[in-house]
Amino acid sequence: MTVAVVLLSGGLDSTTTLAYALSKGYDVVALTVSYGQRHSRELESAKAVAKHYGLKRHIVMDLDLSFLRTSALTCPDVEVPLRDSAEGIGDDIPVTYVPARNIIMLSLAAGLCETEGGEVIFIGANAIDYSGYPDCRPEFFEAFEKVLRVGTKSGVEGRPIEIKAPILRKSKAEIVKLAKELDAPLHLTWSCYKGGKRACGHCDSCLLRLKGFEEAGYSDPVEYEAGP
Ligand SMILES: [Zn+2]
Repeated sequence: MTVAVVLLSGGLDSTTTLAYALSKGYDVVALTVSYGQRHSRELESAKAVAKHYGLKRHIVMDLDLSFLRTSALTCPDVEVPLRDSAEGIGDDIPVTYVPARNIIMLSLAAGLCETEGGEVIFIGANAIDYSGYPDCRPEFFEAFEKVLRVGTKSGVEGRPIEIKAPILRKSKAEIVKLAKELDAPLHLTWSCYKGGKRACGHCDSCLLRLKGFEEAGYSDPVEYEAGP
């Protein structure tokens, strides 16, 4: 069995990506990074999802990124922007952008993958219904694969680690449909940036998620404070 590291945040996208990796028969090591995100509620979701699948290896690591003080996700002084509809999301890079987050996450996953003799890293990035983050675009992943080819032992020895982002070019509705096909435990996931008891329904992440469920023709099993 080929070992794959799956970056698991506990949200809709990474849970669907995990379900996909398992459906393809990979021996999965899940990696969840607790980086001081405001929505630390998603860590509980990541643990619940890993438990749901009975993953033998789920690494939850603490990494204090609170010094990244320009991001609404890591700095309590920066407000998470709220809006009434998904219109306009992705036009500009929003303050929920965490500086270099996917470079950091993929670097950690690469170290783990090489240690475990793995060949693949799965990441639930999406470049269609997304917030406009530069590190969620196809050209970033292509460039990072190049980094792995030249910057790791496995790479220079001819066994480069591959990055798979199976939902990169899917709409949120297509992601929801894929998750349903794979019977992913969507009721356990958490996408809201705010991290209260219930999802807020007004942050970009909630709005994109709600739009995806609506367009896919399903109701979202998580509870919301208020819909858009
Ligand atoms: Zn929200």
